[in-house]
Amino acid sequence: MKNWATLTADKTILCTCAYDAGRGGNSIRFVYLHHNAGSLSTEQCRQLWDDSGRGSAHYQVEQDGTIGQTVHDWDTAWGVGDRAANQRGVSIEHANDHGAPTWTISEATLDNGAHLVAALCAFYDLGIPTWGSNVFPHSRYMATACPGAIATAQRGAYMARARQWWEQMRVDSSRGSDSPPPGVAESAHDHWLADGIIGPESVRLYQARHGLKTDGLGVTEFVTSLQEASDAPYRDGWVDGANASLALMYWPGLTAVRGADGSGSPSWRAIQMRLLGTEPDGVPGPVDAQAFQRALREGRL
Ligand SMILES: [Zn+2]
Repeated sequence: MKNWATLTADKTILCTCAYDAGRGGNSIRFVYLHHNAGSLSTEQCRQLWDDSGRGSAHYQVEQDGTIGQTVHDWDTAWGVGDRAANQRGVSIEHANDHGAPTWTISEATLDNGAHLVAALCAFYDLGIPTWGSNVFPHSRYMATACPGAIATAQRGAYMARARQWWEQMRVDSSRGSDSPPPGVAESAHDHWLADGIIGPESVRLYQARHGLKTDGLGVTEFVTSLQEASDAPYRDGWVDGANASLALMYWPGLTAVRGADGSGSPSWRAIQMRLLGTEPDGVPGPVDAQAFQRALREGRL
């Protein structure tokens, strides 16, 4: 992965048709594990899935550990043959290093696959990776040998590694960051995708990309960074509202990003014009919030 904290894959080779746009309003709660029953590149997976139209996954972990993204997290991959389950999960494919009957995966695939499981569990607040709780084999949903040794001989090693990475990522992300106020962190994490509400996940992703504290809050730094990125006339990080953190999380309720003269909108107008491409009326609203999320997803922020 280029970046575990932001879930940026080594390469992005997207399926053109073998997936459903969006997740039908569902949030991500599970990780599903698969094996190729072969050793494919990300490019070969993408081709196979688009050609057959019968299956897909969000990520492919290749035999050397390279990870490719083939379906965006916010879309539904055709992973486990169960529509409701697919809408709630992220499917990871793994290349095999041996065929039948063992169907094992290489050390590099195991390490990077387990790390990806940990990164997904951290990013989507799923808790520590746990088999049968937030991590499931494809075979749980249909009669299939998938994911081979990941569900049998290598399962213990795979899950132990996933837990190790999860603990490590937790230490890394808490180092130097503030604890969010009680009751705030859990409130809106499901809504970061494209719903026009800027929740902690949106903010955290932005923070990780910009080297800020990844606490999901960080209002002053966050706004200052936005102001800098958009060449706003003011860089004061100042946000209107009695509770700036909550106001930021519920973006449509944010009344203004103000300049030092207290007049309101020059900073905010610049952000709208330069970063979001929305109507530069100086008033943030749901349309701006959705444009913000779109820019975040597409890596423009
Ligand atoms: Zn499978």
